[in-house]
Amino acid sequence: MEIGEDNTLKSTLKKVFGYDTFRGTQEQIIQNVMDGKNTFVIMPTGAGKSLCYQLPAIVKDGTAIVISPLIALMKNQVDQMNAVGINAKFLNSTLSKGEITKVKKETLAGEVKLLYVAPESLTKEANIDFLKQANISFVAVDEAHCISEWGHDFRPEYRRIKSIIKDFGDIPVVALTATATPKVQMDIAKNLEMEEAQVFQSSFNRTNLIYEVKPKKQAKKQLVKFVKEHKGESGIVYCLSRKKVEEIAEFLKVNGVNVAPYHAGMEANIRMKNQDAFLNEDVDVIVATIAFGMGIDKPDVRYVIHYDAPKSIEGYYQETGRAGRDGITSKVVMFYSYNDILKLEKFNKDKSVTERENARFLLDEVALYADSGVCRRKQLLHYFGEEWKVDNCEACDNCLHERQHFEGGEYAKLVIEAVRLTEERFDRNHIASLLVGEKTEHVLSYSHDQLSVFGAGKDHDQRFWKSIIRQTLLNEFIKKDIEHPGVFQLTQKGLDFLVDPFKVEMVKDHEYESEGEEEEIEKETINTTAYDKNLYDMIKALRKKVAKEKDLPPYVIFQEPSMEEMATLYPMTMDDLIKIVGVGESKARKFGKPFLAMIEKYVDENDIMTASDVLVKSSGAKSKNKIFIIQQIDRQIDLEEIAESKDLKYEALITEIENICYGGTKLNLDYYIDQLLDDDRQDDITDYFMNAESDSIEAAMEELGEYYSEDEVRLMRIKFMSEHAH
Ligand code: ADP
Ligand code: ZN
Repeated sequence: MEIGEDNTLKSTLKKVFGYDTFRGTQEQIIQNVMDGKNTFVIMPTGAGKSLCYQLPAIVKDGTAIVISPLIALMKNQVDQMNAVGINAKFLNSTLSKGEITKVKKETLAGEVKLLYVAPESLTKEANIDFLKQANISFVAVDEAHCISEWGHDFRPEYRRIKSIIKDFGDIPVVALTATATPKVQMDIAKNLEMEEAQVFQSSFNRTNLIYEVKPKKQAKKQLVKFVKEHKGESGIVYCLSRKKVEEIAEFLKVNGVNVAPYHAGMEANIRMKNQDAFLNEDVDVIVATIAFGMGIDKPDVRYVIHYDAPKSIEGYYQETGRAGRDGITSKVVMFYSYNDILKLEKFNKDKSVTERENARFLLDEVALYADSGVCRRKQLLHYFGEEWKVDNCEACDNCLHERQHFEGGEYAKLVIEAVRLTEERFDRNHIASLLVGEKTEHVLSYSHDQLSVFGAGKDHDQRFWKSIIRQTLLNEFIKKDIEHPGVFQLTQKGLDFLVDPFKVEMVKDHEYESEGEEEEIEKETINTTAYDKNLYDMIKALRKKVAKEKDLPPYVIFQEPSMEEMATLYPMTMDDLIKIVGVGESKARKFGKPFLAMIEKYVDENDIMTASDVLVKSSGAKSKNKIFIIQQIDRQIDLEEIAESKDLKYEALITEIENICYGGTKLNLDYYIDQLLDDDRQDDITDYFMNAESDSIEAAMEELGEYYSEDEVRLMRIKFMSEHAH
């Protein structure tokens, strides 16, 4: 080490980057790179990896090559470096011939400190020749997990990096990644021929993130509620497909959320505009495919929601990692349904067999993670090879809510035995089949039905055993075989346990299918089956009271669907109430007051978590037809004429008018009805409705059918509802 180099590092940190101190292990890492050694950096997103190669690149003689897969990211970093006066350049397919010549010239002149190269540019013959002549200080391989087929973002060109840079001489390599399971770590080290390299692995624990998985039931309603409760805060909502992105963004928008969509199918300038709007806080929420967020550095994202299940735990960790970079408590929520896993599996159907298997393998882990009742943090950290010893993290749904525990020592023993007797060569499915005593082809072909453990767990189903296998793994009684994905091996701890067992507390899996209400039917309007039964009863009682006071039948005040929706959405202001199905402005004003007061008191007394403005509205505005009909009635046009001009049957028009009326709009049909029925006859029908149990037309026709046509009764019902109910 040169004298004063230490000083140089610190002063460069201050001078160029403006920081006073290094973070975590940055200094040791940089020292290792300065010493010309291979270096392996595994650090969660946002921890400060870039500095680990940027700073030594500046201080060292020559040009550092940075290999990075993302062109957008590259430009961003180059801009940042240039802004602080460092000569950084990139070499990728977006450059013109002239620009490439310039980059090469400056590099060969030794002026460029950092040269960012896309992997596909690195493999180009012309570039290889050029790089051979350059004075290269070291090569940084960013997003190094792209080397591994077992990572979540495999890039075949990445596997060629080492063979190419070997030709440049004996140049040290720095590999950096934010996600690497032990298996992927091994792949990286092997492939870059740097197995001896010192590994700098920071903890993956994001202490300020609160993890939560919610069953995907009434997901839209849950989503809008969550977003409204975090009004004014920045959040990202991830969806699986472009179409879903559009749909959810539109849905949030009609519900008054300040939101913008982002996905690769959008026009580039609109996409950029939306990204900027999010960064500048002109919009609160961005709904995006996972393409969004890579390389963006917004420190105060307060929540990340996976509206659809993620493709892998690595991806999930990365995406959720975009929340709370500033260290302040932030929430990450996954809406989970097994259906999403199946959907994702279908996306892979055109891939090669190996790719498909890898993808399925990663998806399995997501499903297991979601179903498990074990601390989310413990599961995530274990996935990245880190042991988490704390029992209760107090910041995940499984730790915060009461889960059902049971003594699992005996079960763990069976799993370890099964792994041992099958000679550490089989995966979860095989072991589960074996324990429940299922004679699968595999089990039979290895004569595993002859083993003592065969059928030893037949009192439980495969699902139960898969959960036990997972928890046996989390307890480190078995471990994953790095060479053979999916296969389990024994650990010393597991072998000791067989001889000298002890108590092992296990947690029951979630059963999302039976927890809570039935599966959401994705429809435009809100599903009202999940209403608050207590409140509903109270509303109904109040309706009766009000009806009596006003001397009207109860159904005239509010109808069932309106009451159910009120018991779901807890409207507490006139504006809220007007948005309830079947309640128009005049009805709300006429009857609403005592109901609003009661709901407010109820919400208050019962500490109900509700944003008063949570009102799920469907996107479809009043149809053109409806507006037309209302206008025509205002102009006192005869119904036959309206029907004709809209090419509707007369009955169909009446149905439309009924819908309008029951949707809360007051209509005056007197001009038309007065031609049909004289006052006496009108009174006769009105009397009936005034005293009827319900507004059913069938019931009405039983009483009135002898004297009146159905059309007449229906029209009178509209008149009656308009006069009394609105
Ligand atoms: P990563 O690549 O690991 O996701 P970045 O390199 O983008 O993370 O760094 C994340 C943020 O941390 C950036 O805003 C960066 O400027 C900041 N940062 C990095 N090192 C330090 C440091 N020593 N002191 C303060 N801030 C730092
Ligand atoms: Zn926890």
